[in-house]
Amino acid sequence: MIRNRSVRILRGKKMGKPKIATASLAGCFGCHMSILDIDDRILKLVELVDFDKSPVNDIKKFTGRCLVGLIEGGCANEENVHVLKYFRENCDILISVGDCAINGGVPAMRNGIPLKECLEEAYINGPTVYNPSKQIPNDKEIPLCLDKVYPCHHVVKIDYYLPGCPPSADTIWEALVALLNGKPLDLPYELIKYD
Ligand code: SF4
Repeated sequence: MIRNRSVRILRGKKMGKPKIATASLAGCFGCHMSILDIDDRILKLVELVDFDKSPVNDIKKFTGRCLVGLIEGGCANEENVHVLKYFRENCDILISVGDCAINGGVPAMRNGIPLKECLEEAYINGPTVYNPSKQIPNDKEIPLCLDKVYPCHHVVKIDYYLPGCPPSADTIWEALVALLNGKPLDLPYELIKYD
């Protein structure tokens, strides 16, 4: 019920559709799956907003200023940092979605191991690796790995955090509806608890 009322309020206020953008940095796309998991509400969402740069529609560059940017994953390489800064420049509100964006998540498990050792295990010494040349890939097209995996708020200012692995579709939906209505993001306990 609250959901429908929020959508009606939003329609009343609409002055042209706001834009939403999404990105996956060092993540598994599970948080994007959760965005799609809002099911039929995605039809309401596309009535209310335009999706700008996002893997959902495969738009590669921003076409205009966005109200909300949803970021999945932390920063593991230089391209992740570039994309995150690009989002900060082009989005009024930036949200870290999921544990990888908020604290590095699973990719950050490498943070206690020197990068050189990680690369040697992945490309030379790992039990299933076949690499007679003993070379670690170093093509200039491959983004350079950072010394460790950084949460997004260590790189740019983040406005809101949606915890979970992934956050539920209801959590993402309620957050978007609140922000699109110009309300503070004050989600009920049931949507942000994990006990
Ligand atoms: S928080 Fe979980 S679901 Fe989201 S990108 Fe990380 S591992 Fe995947």
